[in-house]
Amino acid sequence: MSLNLDSASLNNTFSRVALHTLGCKLNFSETSTLSSLLKQEGFEVVDFENIADIYILNTCSVTENADKECQALVRKVKRLNATCKIVITGCYAQLKPQAIAQIPDVNLVLGAAEKFNLIYYLKLLYDTQTNMVHCSDIQDLNHFQTAFSQENRTRAFLKVQDGCDYNCSFCTIPLARGKSRSDTIEHVIDTIKKLEQDGFQEVILTGINLGDFSTTTNNNKTAYLVDLLWEIEIQTQIPRIRLSSIEPNLLETPIIQLVKDSQKFMPHFHLPLQSGSSAILKKMQRRYHIDFYAKKISEIYSLIPDCGLGIDVIVGFPGETEAYFDETYQFLHGLPFSYLHVFTYSERKNTKAMTMENKVPMSIRKSRNQILRNLSLKKSHFFYKKFVGTYRPTLFEKPLENGTISGYTDNYIRINTPCSDGLENAIVPFKIMPVLTPQQEIVSL
Ligand code: SF4
Repeated sequence: MSLNLDSASLNNTFSRVALHTLGCKLNFSETSTLSSLLKQEGFEVVDFENIADIYILNTCSVTENADKECQALVRKVKRLNATCKIVITGCYAQLKPQAIAQIPDVNLVLGAAEKFNLIYYLKLLYDTQTNMVHCSDIQDLNHFQTAFSQENRTRAFLKVQDGCDYNCSFCTIPLARGKSRSDTIEHVIDTIKKLEQDGFQEVILTGINLGDFSTTTNNNKTAYLVDLLWEIEIQTQIPRIRLSSIEPNLLETPIIQLVKDSQKFMPHFHLPLQSGSSAILKKMQRRYHIDFYAKKISEIYSLIPDCGLGIDVIVGFPGETEAYFDETYQFLHGLPFSYLHVFTYSERKNTKAMTMENKVPMSIRKSRNQILRNLSLKKSHFFYKKFVGTYRPTLFEKPLENGTISGYTDNYIRINTPCSDGLENAIVPFKIMPVLTPQQEIVSL
């Protein structure tokens, strides 16, 4: 379809755009890319709390009550500007385009394939003045779209992989994001070099299933995550690279070895466990057993004793008896790690787990969540205490209004300290001090 509008005439009508993200860091990096696209076209991007002509909501399928959240945000922005246009995109838009289109005042719904053609669809909306849904079949999506966050000038989240070919029985992400696909090594290197020139000190490599990174090189060979990491190690000057979450079965020894030997790759991993009971792991269709997981953690710590380690765990999965939950608790209790991300299982349509029997009552799910959060606080505190009195290289971000500044050590301990000259966007050796409570000082990715 050809449009008779250019960006200039579109901008004259809708000049101010506000974006909001629900969900993960990958979604944030994509929102950031959408924001850059809009700025390149001459739009003014304003805060989501401000009055705008167009509001764009990048949704998540993992968020509980995604529909209610969307409705509440739509009502909120309509109160800010009754004549605004509202665009919904992201994972939830891909999964439930028609349901979202039914929300009063939503003007445009864009699926995963259409999201980065936002400008085109805005022009179409402006041209036709008709509410629209554009959402292709996710199976047809095999194009990789690059994205990176640009919120502050210190740390950037760079998407290098998208989609997932696994079929964990609780997860809707493959339905919302499609097949696994990756960026090229050359493009990742070029993007890191640009971020480096823009003054970023740290790049966090992200993906839906990062460990599944796979691409074809110029000489027609298949390159995997470890190959990408080696090229980053050799070809870039950025001070810090960090890996985001990686499936335990895909964290191969050469990757751990590279992180150990490198000055650039930070000693920090995030490994989803999901359950410490092999019976539940099987029902979840995860691709490892707890023995394998425990060996992987012990391999990490034998090579990198100071490593920061985050673990995802889901409580209340169907069939999780008191005994199975206790297995998870005991398993985690016996592991070294620095923090947990605890998720309460909630039913998702179109997943295998949705139809499983022996559902756990919500009150029990919640109390199990609290038990593991308490364990996480204790473990975080223990991890932190190991480093009290030692110096760790810390990347400080922007000064806060209260006169303090915060940043992360190499092994992902969050530091808060009074701000002084030379700390902003700098990596400095910082002496870890005792703290009052672990929650004040240790946060997770
Ligand atoms: S690995 Fe499993 S949990 Fe992670 S995105 Fe793929 S299907 Fe979902």
